[in-house]
Amino acid sequence: MKALVTAMLIGSLLALPGCGAVQSGVGAVARGFAGSSGGGLCGDPRLTGEEVGQVPGKLPACGIDEGVRVTSVEGIPLSQAATIDCRTARTLADWVEDTMIPAVGRRGGGVAEIRVAAHYACRTRNHQAGAKVSEHGKGRAIDISALTLGNGDVITVEDGWRGGRRDRRLLRRLHGEACGPFGTVLGPESDAFHQDHFHFDTARYRGGSYCR
Ligand SMILES: [Zn+2]
Repeated sequence: MKALVTAMLIGSLLALPGCGAVQSGVGAVARGFAGSSGGGLCGDPRLTGEEVGQVPGKLPACGIDEGVRVTSVEGIPLSQAATIDCRTARTLADWVEDTMIPAVGRRGGGVAEIRVAAHYACRTRNHQAGAKVSEHGKGRAIDISALTLGNGDVITVEDGWRGGRRDRRLLRRLHGEACGPFGTVLGPESDAFHQDHFHFDTARYRGGSYCR
């Protein structure tokens, strides 16, 4: 009898660690999901906003399957909520973290707001009749026209690109380092339509990124 009780005890003791390990493993995964979705849109803790699901477009080539409205990135508010897809949102977060924040540094107290000139819009490229639908019409593009600093200073693409040395250098870095993560990067050197903002989109081309 004593031997049987001992065997049962050992058996239950042996069974416990395995069972406990499985349960704690599941718990850890569940907590991981809760943590990322609790603070992060698109599973990215750097992004704040809301899911908007399918965004319909008035033209057949327009629309987003799973859209999000991004209100801030790395805690820095956007001047208007940007409706884009998750891939574009995460690419924007990479650019903010890897380029924008280090490039601005402590100047003016750092970036207080990112001025968004355009995001989702079902329209043709550069609003030209008969042109192809813009990446803006697919939720893959965002236009940024300025950064507002903590001290109230505003660095605009329009004035800064050909402005003082400090702004010129900063804006060229913001533009240049976006190239690659974003498939298309357009600024004041590209054409008359981009004198006052940067256009970033995540469209992919066989020839690689297109940056002007
Ligand atoms: Zn654009």
